[in-house]
Amino acid sequence: MSENRTPEAGPGRASARGAHRPRQAANRTAFLALAAALTVAIFLVDTLTPLEGAVAVLYVVVVLLAARSGRRRDIVAAAAGTMALTLLAYVAMHGLHHVGSPTVRAFVSLAAIGISAILALQSQAATAALLRSESRYRRMFDASRVGVVEEDWSRVRAELAARGAAGGSALGQAERIRGLTRTVGVNPAMLAMLGRDAAAPLLDGGARPLVASDRTFAETLDAFARGEPFYEGESEVLRDDGTRVPVLFAITFPRPEDSDGTVLIFVMDIAERRQAQDALLLAQAELAHAARAATLGELSASIAHEVNQPLMAVVTSGEAGLRWLRRDPPDLGEVDQSISRIVAEGRRAGQIVARIRSFVKKAPVQRDLLDAATFVEEAVLLVERELSAAQVALDVDVAPGLPMVLGDRIQLQQVLVNLMVNAGQAMAAQDRPRRLRVSGTRDEAGGIVLSVTDTGPGIAAEDLPRLFEPFFTTRQQGMGMGLAICRTTAEAHGGHLTVESRPGEGTAFRLWLPAATEEIAAP
Ligand code: ADP
Repeated sequence: MSENRTPEAGPGRASARGAHRPRQAANRTAFLALAAALTVAIFLVDTLTPLEGAVAVLYVVVVLLAARSGRRRDIVAAAAGTMALTLLAYVAMHGLHHVGSPTVRAFVSLAAIGISAILALQSQAATAALLRSESRYRRMFDASRVGVVEEDWSRVRAELAARGAAGGSALGQAERIRGLTRTVGVNPAMLAMLGRDAAAPLLDGGARPLVASDRTFAETLDAFARGEPFYEGESEVLRDDGTRVPVLFAITFPRPEDSDGTVLIFVMDIAERRQAQDALLLAQAELAHAARAATLGELSASIAHEVNQPLMAVVTSGEAGLRWLRRDPPDLGEVDQSISRIVAEGRRAGQIVARIRSFVKKAPVQRDLLDAATFVEEAVLLVERELSAAQVALDVDVAPGLPMVLGDRIQLQQVLVNLMVNAGQAMAAQDRPRRLRVSGTRDEAGGIVLSVTDTGPGIAAEDLPRLFEPFFTTRQQGMGMGLAICRTTAEAHGGHLTVESRPGEGTAFRLWLPAATEEIAAP
């Protein structure tokens, strides 16, 4: 999620650490040599000069120098050696029976050396534990088959803290805030996912391990701002060869009390799972299409069968009427009868069609209490990828706290999916920006309005009246049943579906649904 150059890579880091080792050994030798030289100097000053001070206290510096080696035995040896030298110098200078201020000074020196040795040993133990833990985590980082990216979000944290009082979503500023993150490390599994040679330098300037959409990034930021410990979502990884790999990611945020702003992003390649899912969706869509075609086939056959009879009667009566009319003189009584029969048969045909339509409309709907925000989100998830592949920028905005509605979740989802897919198809060929907005608002009449608004070519005025009719389509591959079914579904839910369009600018479909009242919500 960052644009910045990364200083070191996993393997790069490992080899850099390897190079550190001889340098560390050289440093250790230098410190120990310095400690030895200092020991000799202090001993000489302590024994050969008549200085009346606790010169041996300076052995503390020797212990501290030895501690720089990071080894327990060096600290113990330095402490034991310098204590022995302190005693030796004391005995050499004052003998064994002398008691007085030099004795006190010797004790002070011994105590100082002892205490600094204990402190140095404690610090060495803590450092060793820390190093072991760091090396354990480093091994996990390097050996994990899950991609891991380590990023520094200190500046993001400062930015969010500053913005805290103002509140609001980060969506408008996602791109800018993303520029504040800095990639610190990437493990070999992540490098492999990026399609990079693991031995190559980690990330070039401008490269981003994860290409989350602005929406995903803004949601991640919102979770961070809310103080949540982690956030999970879907995103993509842009490989070096330009292809994109769909991934599942989990990002862990630093806790408020942590001083550093390090976040860890765990990334899992889900390309194979996605392919299987796509194949399943395709199979389902084909099945649904086949089922619908079969139903339509049956329906048209039964319409044809039932309507054929009155139609034949209309034709026969019409021909008879014409014959009575062409007589000389015309027999208007018979003509009257023929026309009356035509009208009656026409009405009958109309009733048959109405009966079939009401049968289709009355298909039982599931009646569950539904939260619009949820089924809108679910519908969006179903088409999000298709729209993103068609380069349609999607903006979803459902007002919080909308009243619940009563109905069939799948059917209502299907209405939204249909409207969104139609919009995507309508905008597919245009160069103008392709934008799709799905919004949900409360309606004064006690319901909710879900709008699907696009920036497509709009609908010609002469097509508008027929738009919701079955089989009306302007697309070569179209079937013309989508909007007809959408409207039927809306009406079966006690709502309605309307359209408003400005040719050349776009189209807005509005689905109005009544709020669930207690009375109708009761089973
Ligand atoms: P189909 O998609 O199979 O054609 P529909 O009933 O879903 O059937 O749509 C009917 C027609 O309505 C489409 O062929 C298209 O001309 C028009 N239409 C639907 N949605 C839009 C839209 N968002 N913008 C422009 N035209 C649209």
